[in-house]
Amino acid sequence: MAKRDYYEILGISRDASPQEIKKAYRRLAIKYHPDRNPDNSKEAEEKFKEVSEAYKILSDPEKRQIYDQYGHAGLEAEVGAGAGFGGFGFDPFKIFEEVFGRGSFGGDIFGDFFGRRARVREAQPGSDLHYTLEISFEEAAFGTEKEIRIGRYEPCSSCKGSGIKPGSGPETCPTCKGSGYVSVSQGFFSISRTCTQCQGRGTIIRDPCRQCRGAGRTRTTRKIKVKIPAGVDHGAHLRLGGQGEAGLHGGPPGDLYVSLRVRPHPIFERDGNNIICEVPISFAQAALGGKVTVPTLNGKVKLTIPPATQTNKIFRLKGKGIPYLHSSSRGDQLVKVVVETPVSLNEEQKELLRKFDELRQGNGQPRMKDFFNKVKRIFGS
Ligand SMILES: [Zn+2]
Ligand SMILES: [Zn+2]
Repeated sequence: MAKRDYYEILGISRDASPQEIKKAYRRLAIKYHPDRNPDNSKEAEEKFKEVSEAYKILSDPEKRQIYDQYGHAGLEAEVGAGAGFGGFGFDPFKIFEEVFGRGSFGGDIFGDFFGRRARVREAQPGSDLHYTLEISFEEAAFGTEKEIRIGRYEPCSSCKGSGIKPGSGPETCPTCKGSGYVSVSQGFFSISRTCTQCQGRGTIIRDPCRQCRGAGRTRTTRKIKVKIPAGVDHGAHLRLGGQGEAGLHGGPPGDLYVSLRVRPHPIFERDGNNIICEVPISFAQAALGGKVTVPTLNGKVKLTIPPATQTNKIFRLKGKGIPYLHSSSRGDQLVKVVVETPVSLNEEQKELLRKFDELRQGNGQPRMKDFFNKVKRIFGS
């Protein structure tokens, strides 16, 4: 790719004065500083480098003369053909500091330019995260492992969360020499004030990490495995310690809370650790007794219905319910049999039932008999 003309990059004429060059650089450097362009920082960084290089060359009278005479070819030895900043030994951020003043990156001056307050680099804990996870009835009963995706801040991989450019560390504040105070003479008096450069901390960070811009953390989407223990219920919360947002400037991370929603089951209903299941049986099955097939969490089982079983009678299947949390024991399954009155009878069935009713003659229905005896006592007829 052909290199662009330095004058064109800075938007100035070939006979621009040193003041005009500096002015153009100041304007463009602020415009393209990656810190000011978080949404397209890659693109801005390229522009920022380009503007810095153009300024560095044109602000040096000797190099400017070489460039005017021979173009980019004349400076190849210094800039390196297409090598960008490779062997040249200058850094666009350093140039920025040279022009705007030392400590301007991440400090007060920089903050003023970009309309925000100077950063206070104190460690702050990360906040907790909340996630709602839907699981099936069976998964709640037997436990499972689920993978969830969350967006969160994680410690910056480049500076390991410190926010400081790797290889550099906090330096003693040059203004207060590390004391955190500066003395100001007023007439005969000398008063101490909190140092404004370091806000009284005595140290400054000259070179914030470029990747996280000094915050110590970056935004990431992370897959996390969540172990769901057997026996959890709808509305339960699981706490995953330290899996929340990373802290700021090296602060401890928050926690991740996963709240569980259990999808209703088409057949089973949960009551604590018991499972309730309604099973319809026929009038004949109820009267004569027999075996019915009942579904459980562990598959189908045969349940023996004794003769003369009344509707709503509950049979207990021991240990076929929901496991207790962190225990090997389980609740029961309660099978409630419901006698279903037959519908859409054909003529033959109707005839048989009529015959059956004639033969009954008031016997064999103790509940009915009891009821009508009470009615007779109260109403006397
Ligand atoms: Zn970093
Ligand atoms: Zn200081």
